[in-house]
Parts: sequence; structure tokens; C-alpha cells
Amino acid sequence: MNIIQVYKQFPTEDDCIDHLERVRWGDKPICPYCNSDNSTPQVNHGRRRRYHCNNCNTAFSVTVGTIFHHTHLDFQKWFLAISLILNAKKGISARQLSRDLEVNKDTAWRVSMKIREAMSQAHQRELLTGLVEMDETYIGGKPRKGGPGGPAKRGRGTDKTPVVGIVERGGKIKAKASKKGDLNAKKLSALVRRHVDIENAVLMTDEYGGYMRIKTFMAHEVINHKVWYVDGNIHTNTIESFWALLKRGIVGQYHKVSVKHLPMYLDEFCYRYNYRKHPDLFGMTISRGLGVRV
Ligand SMILES: [Zn+2]
Repeated sequence: MNIIQVYKQFPTEDDCIDHLERVRWGDKPICPYCNSDNSTPQVNHGRRRRYHCNNCNTAFSVTVGTIFHHTHLDFQKWFLAISLILNAKKGISARQLSRDLEVNKDTAWRVSMKIREAMSQAHQRELLTGLVEMDETYIGGKPRKGGPGGPAKRGRGTDKTPVVGIVERGGKIKAKASKKGDLNAKKLSALVRRHVDIENAVLMTDEYGGYMRIKTFMAHEVINHKVWYVDGNIHTNTIESFWALLKRGIVGQYHKVSVKHLPMYLDEFCYRYNYRKHPDLFGMTISRGLGVRV
């Protein structure tokens, strides 16, 4: 859903709240503290719709325990933010979001971090199968200009954060920030076993030594980067395209990404990639933001 559609479908704050309540509760409000459906709408002093639970005597709104909890921002702006983030292939900076939504930069930052929580890949458990590509890349850090350590180094052995990715061709991707020194055969093999259907998949990697143990437990094809042609199905073009998109996003929109926030950016990029064909990505993201599993 683009921002025009968001405006049309949710023209007022009440429309947004109606939608959130319907998604979270269906017909009747459910107290988030005691699960009772016996509640009374409160006389509305503020602009937020609240209910009084007749069972545990607590007041509550639809946002309790969700990414929208304690927000002072209009829900319509939240909805617009979700739409903007989902439609920005390379991500959107807090600065840009603050201009688009006419909110200050701190608010834009907080909202985008909250929306990323709804994009978390932590619960994604399905195994990747068929033709699967695995590769690693390095993100962040400033290139060193001379001084201790010498000129900027590239690739394995730099002080940037390693990120390992595994993608099913035509399917989903998993990308995970890693620690320096974790790109060894033991850790990489464990990662494959956790995320890949090793009975039915064929894994493609480059010739890095860390991948060389994989052939002991599953079908593994190694790409020869020394040849200029793509040898049939044996390539890692899918994951390399994803890295290119991720890097353009991080360099272009986020400039510098701290190691602390990198996992959230990875989740954001994986989420957009994994659900690129989902018929109602906007709706699903709202549901996830409310803690409703879909
Ligand atoms: Zn209650």
C-alpha cells in the first residue's frame, strides 16, 4: 500500500484506531492484563480511545504491549511511516522520514526503530531448500587512512562487521551479523544446519575455506571466481545482488550503521526481500506490530 492508498483508506485518526482494534481484537476489546472481554468504553478525555476493564479494573487501549504503546504521534503518521519504509527498496533515513511526516528527527528515528521491531526475523524458522546460495560480506566501519593498521583493507580480515547470508533461489533470505573470528568452518556449518534443509538442498558458495566442511553433510557446489562465465546453476548472483542492495541502502540512507543497530537493519532488508510478493505487506506489518502473528 502506498501513501495515497493509506490516506484514502485511513482518512482520520478514528479510522486508524478502528483498524488496529479490529486486527488485534476482532469485535470486542480484550483486556491485555487479564484477557477479559468485559469492558466499558471510557469517556474520552484525551484523543486516545480507552476502555475500562470490569474484571481487573484497569484502563487500557489497543496499543498496550505493542510497538505503538505510549506513542504521542498520530496513528495516520505511523501508518504512513510503515508504508514509506515498506516501499523504500533501499530503506529510508530518519532525516527523510522526518521531512515526509513533518515530525522531528528524534520522533522519526524512534518510529522507524519501532517499525523495524515488527519486521524482526527472529521467529522465521522455515528451512531454505532447493538451490541455496551462501556468502558473507562486511558492513560498516570507516576506512582507515594510514596510521596504525595502514590503509583500508577489504574483505576477510578487516575490522568491519561480518554478515553471513543464505538465500533460497526464488525464495527467502536469512542474513545475520556475525563476530570477527566466527567465520570458521565450525560456526558456518552450524549456521547451514540451522537454516538449510540439508537433505534436499544444494548449497552454492565461493571457495572460502570456512565452507569446505559443508560437503561432508550436504550437497555443496563451489564457484570458481577465476573463470569469467557463470557455470550453469553454480553461482551466488542472488545473494550478491542482495548485498549490493543492502550496501547501497546503508551507504545511501543510513551513512553509518553502528554494530548495535546492524541486526535491525538486516531484519528490515530481509523482511522487504522475503515478503516482496506478499499481497498485503502493509496489513501484515501492522498485525506484527500489534503482536498478532499472521
Ligand atoms: Zn482486565
